[in-house]
Amino acid sequence: MTDAHDVVVAGIGSGGFGAALAAARLGLRVLAIESGPELGGTSVRAGVSVWEPGCGGTGIPLDLYNRLMTVPNAAGIYTIARHCCWPEDGFYPGGECRIDPALSYRDSLVRAADGALDWKAHKERIRRVCHGVPFEPAVMARTMADMLRETGRVTLRTNTRVAAADAADGRLRSLRLDSGETVAASFFIDATGDGALCAACGAGMMVGQEPRSRFGEPAAPEEPTALVNGTTLIFRVVPAPSPAIEPLPDGVPAACWWRPAFPVASVVEYPNGDFNVNMLPTMEGQDYLRLGPEAAYAECRRRIRAAWHWYQTVLPEFRHFRIGWTAPALGVRESRRVLGEYVLTQHDLAAGLAGQNHPDIVAIADHPMDTHGAQGKGCGGVTAAYGIPYRCLIPKGMRNLLVACRSASFSSLAASSCRLSRTMMQLGQAAGTAAAIARKLGRDLPGVPPDQLRAELRRQRVALEHPMR
Ligand SMILES: Cc1cc2nc3c(=O)[nH]c(=O)nc-3n(C[C@H](O)[C@H](O)[C@H](O)COP(=O)(O)OP(=O)(O)OC[C@H]3O[C@@H](n4cnc5c(N)ncnc54)[C@H](O)[C@@H]3O)c2cc1C
Repeated sequence: MTDAHDVVVAGIGSGGFGAALAAARLGLRVLAIESGPELGGTSVRAGVSVWEPGCGGTGIPLDLYNRLMTVPNAAGIYTIARHCCWPEDGFYPGGECRIDPALSYRDSLVRAADGALDWKAHKERIRRVCHGVPFEPAVMARTMADMLRETGRVTLRTNTRVAAADAADGRLRSLRLDSGETVAASFFIDATGDGALCAACGAGMMVGQEPRSRFGEPAAPEEPTALVNGTTLIFRVVPAPSPAIEPLPDGVPAACWWRPAFPVASVVEYPNGDFNVNMLPTMEGQDYLRLGPEAAYAECRRRIRAAWHWYQTVLPEFRHFRIGWTAPALGVRESRRVLGEYVLTQHDLAAGLAGQNHPDIVAIADHPMDTHGAQGKGCGGVTAAYGIPYRCLIPKGMRNLLVACRSASFSSLAASSCRLSRTMMQLGQAAGTAAAIARKLGRDLPGVPPDQLRAELRRQRVALEHPMR
């Protein structure tokens, strides 16, 4: 058994990167385990190479952005150019975001209080506040690995999956990897996106929509449902040698077969002028869970070819582009979530920082509730920055395990808002920092004093109030 590490971080996507870097910067020896061949998770492997506008982007996300900006064409800041809600600017089958070199990173942090806005009526305000950060996924993966290695304290293991956990009495003792090796540590951080480690420890999990009676959320359905936020297979389009509508592969119909009409897409310019195409969505989340990753991916590949064919048919300028890359993994917005010491709910989102009364807020967010597929399109509900308590990272009853990814302790509605990549990175930063404090004080993770954790995060330049107000 290997026990040369203070903390094991499982899954090095956005949350895991934040956790591993924060812990290592504070002196912990970190074992970072990633099942994929490169780092970045959904941001890289699923092609979600865009940080959405939002206040939760200080601390490690800003450090990472600064590093990306040392590489030509690695990142930029977008503004919303065209949108299907603004037909006066010309027809567009979704939303188009173009890089504006006049914008800075601070502009990407502005967006509080626009979640409830009617896009038709508030075009100018939305154009003023909604600025995201597109980046080159390969450079992101490389930069994450470089930053972890530079600490001198992170052992990186890619192509390695956590296969099983040995836990008893609220304590995770060791993990078994698919290599057959067993690893032990004082602390563990589950950043697998899916709560895999927590589930393996027998932690309580939630999946689907909770009924209104569970948390009293006004937007929740009366009865529980199996509905899960939609999944998307993202693709990249690159300049075509000559204008054309790409032919459909054999067996792929021209008409949409899985819903009445093709979905709209969010189309974001990469720094080199290619475009990232994100259908909203490609497949219902519950169908993905039912089919499993491989069958769902195969079906989504067919769907994107048909959808792209349609986008090229209805918008002739797309004929100057062709599909140049398809993400190797399906983008999963929601799967199971961990039941933690506190569950973030719509009440927190609606109250905002001013109305929340938590002593342990460790990250802030302001994205509207945002659902795709059968649940209906989003539902706003956020008008100011709100906070995420440290207790959302503590699986109920566990002493040495935190969860720092989109499967943290959020209700289904809250998850639809706070799942953004930079928010996950900040949760990771909080988790890695908490592990370092716990180590220093000789305490279990639930015993980390919130004041000390918040003070250390502030020292790391994490804004716990809206950074642009
Ligand atoms: C289609 C789509 C569009 C989105 N659009 C945006 C957007 O525009 N902007 C934005 O900010 N956010 C967006 N989001 C949300 C955001 O991208 C994700 O919620 C966020 O990236 C999730 O980060 P994470 O750290 O929780 O998980 P991930 O990034 O998925 O990381 C989890 C990692 O764990 C690894 N792993 C899993 N199981 C194991 C195991 N057993 N052992 C070891 N490793 C394991 C995985 O390989 C992966 O690398 C979008 C999401 C989707 C799906």
